[in-house]
Amino acid sequence: MGADALAVSVPGERVEEHGASRTDQERLLRLIVAQRDLACAPLDQSAVFELLAGAVLSIFDAEGALAAEPLGDEVVARAVVGSAGPVVGDRIPQAGTLAGLTLRSRRPHLCTDAATDPRTDDAIDVRSRTRSSIMAPLLDGDQAIGLIAAMSSRPHGFDEQDLALLNLLGEVAAGRLRAARTHQREQETVARSAAITEVMAEGLVELDGQGRVVHANASAQAMLGFTWDGSVGTSAPESDWTFLHEDGTERAAETLPSTTVLLTGVPVKGQVIGVRNPEGTLWWLLANSVPRLDGSHVCGVVNSFTDITEQTEAAARLAASEEHFRMAFDNAPIGMTMISLAPGMVGHYLRANDSFLEMVGYSRADVVGQRLEELTHPDDLERDRDRFGRLCRNEVESLSFQKRYRHKDGQTVMAWLNTAVARGLRDEPLYLITHAVDISDRLREQAELERLALTDTLTGLANRTLLTDRLDQALARLHRTGGACAMLLLDIDRFKLVNDSLGHLVGDALLVEVAGRISDVTRADTTVARIGGDEFVVLVEAMKDPESVHALATRLLDALRRPYDLGPTAESLFATVSIGVSLATTADRTHVDLYREADLALYRAKDSGRDQYALFDDGLRESTESKLRADSLLRHALAGDRLVAVFQPMVDLQDGAIHAAEGLARVIDEHGQLRPPADFIDVAEDTGLIVEVDARMFELVVAEHARIAADPTIELRRVSTNVSARSLEDPGFVGRVRKALAWYGVPGSAIRVELTERSLLTSSPVVAESLRRLTALGVHVGLDDFGTGYSALAYLQRFSLQFLKIDRSFVSRLGSSERDDAVVCAVIDLAHAHDLIVVGEGVETPEQLAALRAMGCDRAQGYLMGKPMSAAELEALLRTEPRW
Ligand code: C2E
Ligand code: CA
Ligand code: CA
Repeated sequence: MGADALAVSVPGERVEEHGASRTDQERLLRLIVAQRDLACAPLDQSAVFELLAGAVLSIFDAEGALAAEPLGDEVVARAVVGSAGPVVGDRIPQAGTLAGLTLRSRRPHLCTDAATDPRTDDAIDVRSRTRSSIMAPLLDGDQAIGLIAAMSSRPHGFDEQDLALLNLLGEVAAGRLRAARTHQREQETVARSAAITEVMAEGLVELDGQGRVVHANASAQAMLGFTWDGSVGTSAPESDWTFLHEDGTERAAETLPSTTVLLTGVPVKGQVIGVRNPEGTLWWLLANSVPRLDGSHVCGVVNSFTDITEQTEAAARLAASEEHFRMAFDNAPIGMTMISLAPGMVGHYLRANDSFLEMVGYSRADVVGQRLEELTHPDDLERDRDRFGRLCRNEVESLSFQKRYRHKDGQTVMAWLNTAVARGLRDEPLYLITHAVDISDRLREQAELERLALTDTLTGLANRTLLTDRLDQALARLHRTGGACAMLLLDIDRFKLVNDSLGHLVGDALLVEVAGRISDVTRADTTVARIGGDEFVVLVEAMKDPESVHALATRLLDALRRPYDLGPTAESLFATVSIGVSLATTADRTHVDLYREADLALYRAKDSGRDQYALFDDGLRESTESKLRADSLLRHALAGDRLVAVFQPMVDLQDGAIHAAEGLARVIDEHGQLRPPADFIDVAEDTGLIVEVDARMFELVVAEHARIAADPTIELRRVSTNVSARSLEDPGFVGRVRKALAWYGVPGSAIRVELTERSLLTSSPVVAESLRRLTALGVHVGLDDFGTGYSALAYLQRFSLQFLKIDRSFVSRLGSSERDDAVVCAVIDLAHAHDLIVVGEGVETPEQLAALRAMGCDRAQGYLMGKPMSAAELEALLRTEPRW
């Protein structure tokens, strides 16, 4: 339609049915005025709507005019003039109204009578009191953005020509409405973005072409520490600031991004700028600068900043701590590694320091990326996997243990390892950090020390400590494994002789050779030890067959019996050993038992002639036990003063009277029984208690002599007592004898000391001295059991003896063989020749007594004349003055 419609309709005759109406010229003129008014109306929709409504009313001389805008499925009245029904802001539905039809169809519409018009809803028209109307859309392209209408309360108020004119106005007005809408939207956008700019965290500073501030938002002002008063052209406060590059060096203001962007027009993004104000505060900004272009001309620059001071400082702190860590790691004197726990890389070396590389002998390139297993000793793999697994599964915080690495050269490196999991912020495992200290040297030293402490330096064999340890272990194992373990105690026969005659060097060489031969004969798992001078032990563990110990002992004897060539100059040396063997078959045995039993067996082997072995058996066990019992018996008796003397009378064969008696030792056991010397003397000899026994017996017989001497009615000239060689070896013994004599006031000559031959065979100078001192005290010393030893009387003469006693074994055979009689007779004659008094002991029959008397024997002693009796009984016997 548009201009054509106008052109067609303008000349036409208007049908005026009512009142005065404007002429066409008038209406056109008003249209032109409206058009002019619209052209200079402010770019504001409300103003445009107002103006349009006024123009419609004035052009058509209508009762009411309306300018409206669609909103959803309604139409909103924006401007209303005249007496039209709706008021500003009223909403009417589009459905069922001519307005809706006009907007939808985007064409003008005429309604000549609403009452009959089927397109309109009666109710609405009635409410608006409109009977006729014309309406035209305001179009923006093919979209209706508003409408204008003229209304009359009478039917047929408008015709087609009116409609064309209204449409023409609509077309003219639409352009201005569009402009107003666009302008208004722009205004809103600007306002909205200004608001956003103000609240955003990022700083925003816009500069003009001269570098003056055109805009700065609140964040920028806060960030940069200046206040923008809102006026365009404020100069930036940069003049007194110092700028820094990211690396901390100073940067010239000309190199700031805003400056370069102004010069080049090229955007600069992601620059880190350090800013220090005159107060010295430093902060860091991440800046983007983009040019504002006016064509190709740069008319300004927009700078945006983010304050990254905190992140930068945190990053710097992190970098510093990482650097510290790196230095500590790289330069640590102990081996350090980092082992990945990242998925897919678990167990790979991430990093290793020099100390670690030196420890394992590999280069960094060899180690990094390598799997943990590659450097681990194969025997530790399983165990390590388990341990590291526990760490990774968070079962333990850290672990310390000894670990073996494989050195590049194949050697094993012993290390003490400390390892812990390093975790990330969310506690996720990142890597393992390990410290490894090479303890190979320390272990070697320790092992060497242990070896020295446990081995014999001369032969390199185990020493007693190690042997005892092994023995304990072997005995403990017996419990589980059964079987037996054997201890063979070897002692070189007459080793002292070798040492004394050939010297210690030869002695040592012999020991080394013996050690070697023992080792050769025994199996590798057998412990061979040297436990003292010339004593060796072979410990055989877990023996299936205890009988095999006999074969082993024989092998040892054979091997050790072969001649020894100990040096280039020395002649072959012959040496033998004796072996004592003890066996344990039950776990209740202790090493003390085994040592003692082997020792006893050895003793027996030596006793039986050396160069042989003896097994500790039941017989030995029995005698050992009885010895133990005897020892205990004697000790208790000595402690409880239950060592007593009994006396056996001695008959003078000249007058047949009793002038003397021999004191014999007895102990009273726990049952009050008297126990004979056989039950305790041997043990006392072994243990040395014999000295105490002899001394006490001496005191007892001296005391008894003194008692009887004090009684004038009886006479006892002499009392004998027995003294062991060991007592004479004791330097204190004679002193006690002298004291006893002095105490009881008994002359030494009243006491006889009986010695066995063995006592006098010893070359000990102490024994000779004791004898000399005894003799000096006046004590008579004589020989007991004569005939059982081998000594020649001439030899014995050196000790200035006063008597000898012919052993009971000779006396008991008197009268049974002439040869024996002759021997006794000869002894008596020989003794007399040496001025010795002869005593025959063990006389049990009158015939024996008679024989001795016939042979000229001086005295006799035996059950015939009296068994050993108590002191009281002896006194009683003496009172009867018997004659034999
Ligand atoms: P001995 O010195 O030869 O003592 C004599 C032993 O022969 C005594 O045995 C005595 O009871 C026994 N006897 C005496 N007449 C006869 C006889 O007609 N027939 C038989 N069958 N035996 C007779 P006893 O008292 O058992 O003493 C044994 C040995 O013990 C002693 O032999 C002596 O060597 C030793 N002894 C005893 N008391 C002591 C002591 O105080 N010190 C030391 N060192 N040895 C002692
Ligand atoms: Ca005697
Ligand atoms: Ca005797």
